[in-house]
Amino acid sequence: MGEPEADEEFPFDINPMYEGERIRKASLYVELGGQNKPGFELVHFEPDPNKIKDGEVSLIGPDLEEMEEGSTHAYTMTYKVYGEQIEEDLEAVIERRNHEYQGYIQGYMHLNQRAEIWVRISKEAVKKGLKSLKQIGKATIMLFKAELPFIKKMEATYITDEEEVVRRLADANKIYEARDVRVRGLHDEDVDEFYQCTLCQSFAPTNVCVVSPDRTALCGAMNWFDSRAAARVDPEGPNAPIPKGECIDPIGGEYTGVDEAAVRLSGGEYDSIKLHSFLEKPHTSCGCFEVAGFYIPEVDGIGWVHRGSKVSDTPIGLPFSSIASSVGGGKQVEGFLGIGVQYFYSPKFIQYDGGWRRVVWMASDLKERVRGVIPEEMRDKIATEKDVRNIEELRAFLKKVDHPVVTGVIRDVDGARITEGWAAAAETAPPAEMEEAAAPGEVEPSTRVPITPQVMASGGTSPVTIILKDADIRIGEIIVKRKRDK
Ligand code: SF4
Repeated sequence: MGEPEADEEFPFDINPMYEGERIRKASLYVELGGQNKPGFELVHFEPDPNKIKDGEVSLIGPDLEEMEEGSTHAYTMTYKVYGEQIEEDLEAVIERRNHEYQGYIQGYMHLNQRAEIWVRISKEAVKKGLKSLKQIGKATIMLFKAELPFIKKMEATYITDEEEVVRRLADANKIYEARDVRVRGLHDEDVDEFYQCTLCQSFAPTNVCVVSPDRTALCGAMNWFDSRAAARVDPEGPNAPIPKGECIDPIGGEYTGVDEAAVRLSGGEYDSIKLHSFLEKPHTSCGCFEVAGFYIPEVDGIGWVHRGSKVSDTPIGLPFSSIASSVGGGKQVEGFLGIGVQYFYSPKFIQYDGGWRRVVWMASDLKERVRGVIPEEMRDKIATEKDVRNIEELRAFLKKVDHPVVTGVIRDVDGARITEGWAAAAETAPPAEMEEAAAPGEVEPSTRVPITPQVMASGGTSPVTIILKDADIRIGEIIVKRKRDK
């Protein structure tokens, strides 16, 4: 990848080395989009070159100089592009590169995609002379044209006026939806190749993103068609074909070609990935996932919470942000998984672990958003924050609605029983709290807290992290022994 030279008109450095730069609150000048304000980015292919003012950037709404330090604003970046080689198929591909190229700009942090963009501009950048978002737009166009020479003309419109952002967001959502719907009729067995994406390796070096027809990218921005188009027009870029090879496990979605790619792309960190598994050799997660999944051992089920969720705590006592830090970083974490919203629509959605029959909890707005794809018999069996607040309430809810995890999950795709259920065991065994209450000198049952074990990396030798929420820990004695070689 070439390193574009910064034009002297820009008061900031432009270099790929700034990719992955984080701007923390202490050094923040303004925040655009993110959790608290609407925002989106969109690329539109314009077939008539005369309708594009090449290199021009317009701004609707207040500019940086009119924004108070520490403030948050709505933000939209739209681009019109023209080139003989460009067609509508490439819109999503070009759009996703906005994340990459804007990451080259020092003091400008771009995260996420589509209607979840989150941008931060540093005080340092403003101090150095960054005055206008138009400067950012000009630099971005320069980078696009340098890196993707098939773009012959490009014009940008940035918007910070909140009303205007909201007004245009509805149309943008229709475009995203149309792109997503297109891939739903295509399945993994219909194609010979999947696609890799290494775009996020700049901040998650062992991340292995595999985009298949049944598994849209976890960022939600790249489906199989987009990845194919990207690999064709930019063969040196982050997207390249992965020949499927032999199918080792049709239910888990394990292929020899994907396993080879896992070794190659992770630098040997992982040797296999099951595309449709949650608990065994799951897909890695960088940091861009739209939705985070978490295994809840107490009920042997899976919960889902999305970025931007208004839910402050999931039943395991953690918000999205805490769960996201366990999921991300390019790791293969058994028990946590990052996905794109579209993966809920896949007929192979975590089918290795029982698919929808294993889902016990979802943030209510996420459940509402994908309600149509939840099998009818499961719709009322999946709890939300409106039904339960903690594990005890979740267990009671699941028993009340006769959720499959209570008596054991039968996997739909092959009829295999994959869990034994916990209702019978819970009835015959004395309640754990009673047992523990009888033991002298132990912690009072009322102070016991749920424990969430997280296997932090692949391989049997990895450490285990245990998060204790609001814990009161009393320890009589700890014996630490050195592990000796056998
Ligand atoms: S999340 Fe995956 S598919 Fe999406 S941009 Fe990052 S590496 Fe590419």
